[in-house]
Amino acid sequence: MSLLVKGGTVVGPTGIRVADVLVEGEKIVAVLDPSFSPTITVDEVLDASGKYVIPGGIDAHTHMELPFGGTAASDTFDTGTRAAAYGGTTTIIDFAVQRTGEVVQDGLAAWHAKADGECHIDYAFHMILGGVDADALKAMDQLVTDEGITSFKLFMAYPGVFYSDDGQILRAMQTARENGAMIMMHAENGIAIDVLVQQALQRGETDPIYHGITRPAALEAEATNRAIALAEVAQDCPLYIVHLSASQALEHVAAARDKGRNVFAETCPQYLYLTLEDQLGAPGFEGAKWVCSTPLRSGKEPHRENLWRGLRTNDLAMVSTDHCPFCMKDQKELGIGDFSKIPNGIGGVEHRVDLIYQGVVDGQLSLARWVETIATTPARMFGMYPKKGIIAPGSDADIVLYDPSARTRISVETHHMNMDHSAWEGYEIAGKVDTVLSRGTVIVAGDQYYGRAGHGQFVQRGLSDYLV
Ligand SMILES: [Zn+2]
Repeated sequence: MSLLVKGGTVVGPTGIRVADVLVEGEKIVAVLDPSFSPTITVDEVLDASGKYVIPGGIDAHTHMELPFGGTAASDTFDTGTRAAAYGGTTTIIDFAVQRTGEVVQDGLAAWHAKADGECHIDYAFHMILGGVDADALKAMDQLVTDEGITSFKLFMAYPGVFYSDDGQILRAMQTARENGAMIMMHAENGIAIDVLVQQALQRGETDPIYHGITRPAALEAEATNRAIALAEVAQDCPLYIVHLSASQALEHVAAARDKGRNVFAETCPQYLYLTLEDQLGAPGFEGAKWVCSTPLRSGKEPHRENLWRGLRTNDLAMVSTDHCPFCMKDQKELGIGDFSKIPNGIGGVEHRVDLIYQGVVDGQLSLARWVETIATTPARMFGMYPKKGIIAPGSDADIVLYDPSARTRISVETHHMNMDHSAWEGYEIAGKVDTVLSRGTVIVAGDQYYGRAGHGQFVQRGLSDYLV
C-alpha cells in the first residue's frame, strides 16, 4: 500500500518547504520535490494543499487510568489515546507505576496489561519509582537493557505516596549516570507544602484556590534547585524537570543549562495560558477543574511570558500535557470542603498540538519551533528518534495535516476525552487538525474517525539523544 501526501507544506525542525511525502506501508520512504511526483504511481493520494504537513505529536507525559487520591484518572488507554489521535498526537509516553513496597517489574507488567490491545496510537512508558531501594536500583538497569524503558520519575512531593528523600534520589541518580537513563523529577518541596496545607485547613481555607496558594513558587524553585544540585553530585546525571510552572524554577534550569549541564525541562499548556486567579480561583467549587500539581501560577507575575520565552530559547525543551483527567462528579467532588482531597490533574491530551499552534499565531513561536516542541524534541529527548518526530525517509509514517485556515473551538460538547468538563471550555484556536496518519494508516480525516483500539504498538525506547 503506497500513499502520497501531495501539495502540502512540510514543517520540520530545520524549517519549512513545499514537498510531497511518499509513504509505503508504515514508513515514509521519500520527501519529494513536487515536480517529481507526477512520475510516481501510488495507490492513494491525500490532498494536502493549503495544509501544514507535520510529524505526529508526541505527548511525553500522560497518566491514563492512574490511581490517585482514592479514585483513578478517568481516561482509559482506549479513550485517552483515541482523544489524543483526534488532536494530532500519534505517540504518548505514559507513566507506569511502582508503588512503595512493590517490585518494579510487577508495576511495569500491570501497566502493560492495562495498555496492551487498547491503544489507538503508539505508546511507550516511563517508570515511576515509588520506593527506591537496592532491588529498585537493580531493576532500573534491567528496564534500560531489556524493556526499552530509559527514564525514571521520582517525586520530591507527595510524602507517604510517591515521595523519595534526597538520599534515595541521589542513589537513583547515581544508577542513572551509570546506565544512561534520564531521571525525571516532580520538583516541589512536599514536606513544606504539607505543613502549609494543614495550616490552611486549620484556618478554614478549604476552597480550590488554596491548593495553589499552599504550593508557592518558592517551593517549586527550591526543589528544582535541589534536584539540579543532587544531579551535579551524581556526576551530572541527566535530569528532566516535569511540568515546570514557575519563573523562579525556570531560572535555576536556565542557569544549569548555561553551565552546559544535562538539565532539561518541559512545561504544559495550562501553565502557558491559565492562572491561579482566573481558573483556580473561579467561584465556588468550580476551581477544582484546574487543581493540578505543580499548580497554576499567579497572573500578576510574569510566569506565562517567561515560559513562552523559555520555549523560544530552549531552556524549556518541549511541551507535554501531564494529561490526568478527573470528572467533577464523584471525582473532583471528593474535595468539596477540603481542597487537599481534590484529585490532582487536568485533561488535555487532545488539545496540546492546537494550543501550542496558537502560540505560533500569537507570535510566541516559529512554525519550526512548534513542531520541535510538540514532536521532534520529545522523540529525541526520550530515545525514539528518528523512528518518531520527523518527516523523513525511514521514519514511521506518523503524519498530521494541519489546516491553518480552519478553526477549533474547544468544548466538553465536542471533545473526546472521558471527562464531564473541559479545562479549556470556549477556547478558540486559529487552526485545526485535519488528517492524522499513524504508521501509514489514516485514523482521522476531517471529522471522521477510522482508528481502532489495538492499532497502537508499544515502542521500546533507547537513550536520550541530548546527553553529553
Ligand atoms: Zn504527571
